[in-house]
Amino acid sequence: MSDCCSNQSPSVAQTNSGGSSKPLCPNCGEAGRPVSVVTLKHMVLPDFLEVVNKAGFLFCSTADCAVVYFHPVGETLEKADLRVRVGLKETADPVPVCYCFGFTERMLLEEIEATGKTTILQRIAAEMKADRCACEVRNPQGSCCLGNVKAAAKRAGQITGRITESLTH
Ligand SMILES: [Zn+2]
Repeated sequence: MSDCCSNQSPSVAQTNSGGSSKPLCPNCGEAGRPVSVVTLKHMVLPDFLEVVNKAGFLFCSTADCAVVYFHPVGETLEKADLRVRVGLKETADPVPVCYCFGFTERMLLEEIEATGKTTILQRIAAEMKADRCACEVRNPQGSCCLGNVKAAAKRAGQITGRITESLTH
């Protein structure tokens, strides 16, 4: 198992003909983050396996953009083309924040509401340490979820009004 949580972007061949500029999502105009073919293959419905079987796809992290993945030469994949719920683009439960161990925004919210803090980050860190994460094939972004979980914990702290400085400890 490779070290999936070291925050390395997958090395993806850039086919952008424009040169140095980052490929932008054709729907929302924001820059995408490279994802590997193996990540894509785990995310899409079988009909789209052929489409994603080439390097260069990028993930769009804009919450209200329908496009999840796009390729600089034109293909796009939306939520309906995938077999997983992309937490960043969902507002209704369940909103996944950690795909390897199944934590959702609701779980964060309920724990913070009840106790004023969350142990979920520690639990994820412990699982990572035990080499049980598989972000490359479970997280639609193909990278470690911890940044998303921290952001979700912060949001949950604000929603519940129970934000404390020890939230992430
Ligand atoms: Zn977009």
